[in-house]
Amino acid sequence: NDLKKHFPLTGGFFGQVTGQVYAVDGVSFSIEKGETLSLVGESGCGKSTVGKAILRLFSLTSGQVVLDGQRIDDLSAGKLRPLRRRVQVVFQDPFSSLNPRMRVRDILAEPIINFGLAKTRAEIDERIALLMDKVRLPRDAVNCWPHEFSGGQRQRIGIARALAAEPDLIICDEAVSALDVSVKAQIVNLLQDLQKELGLALLFISHDLAIVEHMTHRVAVMYLGKIVEVASRREIFANPKHPYTIALLSAVPVPDPGKARDRVILKGDVPSPINPPKGCRFHTRCPMAFDRCRVDEPQLRLAADGHYAACHLHDPDKAPGAHA
Ligand code: SF4
Ligand code: MG
Repeated sequence: NDLKKHFPLTGGFFGQVTGQVYAVDGVSFSIEKGETLSLVGESGCGKSTVGKAILRLFSLTSGQVVLDGQRIDDLSAGKLRPLRRRVQVVFQDPFSSLNPRMRVRDILAEPIINFGLAKTRAEIDERIALLMDKVRLPRDAVNCWPHEFSGGQRQRIGIARALAAEPDLIICDEAVSALDVSVKAQIVNLLQDLQKELGLALLFISHDLAIVEHMTHRVAVMYLGKIVEVASRREIFANPKHPYTIALLSAVPVPDPGKARDRVILKGDVPSPINPPKGCRFHTRCPMAFDRCRVDEPQLRLAADGHYAACHLHDPDKAPGAHA
């Protein structure tokens, strides 16, 4: 709820604070049990920062993270401990997120032991065997080292490690981005099957809309630290409203050339989050920008059923020709 993460920027001769980086600047969303919400946008837009804030890998500048009605962002480490189990993460790089000096058995045993989910050696081994089944790896592979696996297999181990904690929410931060196309599809299918089986909520952070289209329920599009559009998968892909979403989608290849979207080429790069543009943050690159966009910041508002967009074009009081 209204998550903000501003980093002080130090520079200058004496390392003094010379500015603020507005990495995440007022982001709100919710995820239901059994739901996948995808957070999409170009790199540097703040998606991973949102994920890390929910995981409490650092503290927020302001805002609240609420799990099942309980605020968790302001809990002390001791009070947070039992809740930590419920939110797990799968990172992008399966080659660096697994400890190379631990066998798979020990990688999976760690969360089981840390969260007190099993006590005896036999109970722990039983859980580990079931986790290997869940991610469709052979049970005897628990004796292997991470380097003995392919990228896709390592990502299965990363998923098994997340599942070992019996979480309610898994944050997948570019979890399939480093994998080959066919392996990507296998891992996405696995995540979907596990979600159905276990009722997991997934926050799927990705810059890859082609993958998102195959697996998400809802999509939130981020640009420079803010959500600019949220809607169901169907609505986002069939009826995008925000000019930024339209541009992102225009770059996604479609199998049927007759249905190809007109390509929208955006001018320039994402501006720096140090001094984001005034008014609409997207106005420096928006092909539809008009005068108001340079001074008045659009708010996320309902543009259609369950479909929110932050763009003056979708505000009847502020669009060009409006009399407000
Ligand atoms: Fe473009 Fe203006 Fe809409 Fe921003 S508010 S996305 S600049 S049209
Ligand atoms: Mg990232």
